[in-house]
Amino acid sequence: MNYLYHARHLVLGRFGQADLERIAASRVMVVGVGGTGSTAARLFAEAGVSELSIADPDVVSISNLQRQQYSTGDIGRKKVSATAEYLKKVNPEIEVKCYDTVFDSGFALSHAGEYDLIFDGTDNVTTRRIINDISVKTGTPWIFSSAIETYGEFKAIIPGRTSCYACFMPELEGPQQTCSQIGVLNSVPATVASLAYVLGLRILKGDEVSGDIHFLDAWDMTLEKIKTLKNPQCPVCSHGSFKYLTDQYSGFDPRIVQ
Ligand SMILES: [Zn+2]
Repeated sequence: MNYLYHARHLVLGRFGQADLERIAASRVMVVGVGGTGSTAARLFAEAGVSELSIADPDVVSISNLQRQQYSTGDIGRKKVSATAEYLKKVNPEIEVKCYDTVFDSGFALSHAGEYDLIFDGTDNVTTRRIINDISVKTGTPWIFSSAIETYGEFKAIIPGRTSCYACFMPELEGPQQTCSQIGVLNSVPATVASLAYVLGLRILKGDEVSGDIHFLDAWDMTLEKIKTLKNPQCPVCSHGSFKYLTDQYSGFDPRIVQ
């Protein structure tokens, strides 16, 4: 490990050499490298994780540049390719694995147990439910993050200890609004990702973080913390039913209206 690279973390007083080495042995998956995911991927690369996997089937478009870690030269390129190239420049010591694909049930099952942490950089509920199911099934912590309009929310989900996504997100939901329909302030995804990343980093370091949901209102400058309890009726973490890992969600593509 190049300790000069991590000099500012080492003098911070929050990390010992052993913590940095633990982080440097970690494997992280970032699902979706859009506004939140591209920022989180950069931060995990800078923290020096051993292996950073990124999954996203999209190409960079001009409307992404307002808030995502891409530039004009990336337009039309696969997001995973542009991100991997960029991350290798940010920290050449890490290994970056690219998956130009959706994170469907098949992908989740075929990579089960490969990661120490999964970071949600997606913008849809169904992919989050797939992440949640594989996380609970394999005991892998994940970080839920979401950004829309001037708001954001994020939460750590640690199987066996905190509530899971299905504990607090009811199954019956109406049509989900997206950033392309109602917009997003350009600083919000990066702000949410930067805060949510801290939860992930602390999990990799071995800290016990809470399972509270954090709500950000970037316009009013408020950050609230709300406790979420494990739901004893939760189909996923209480009853072990993993509907989103079945064939029904094989090939699930959030870009196609379901
Ligand atoms: Zn649950």
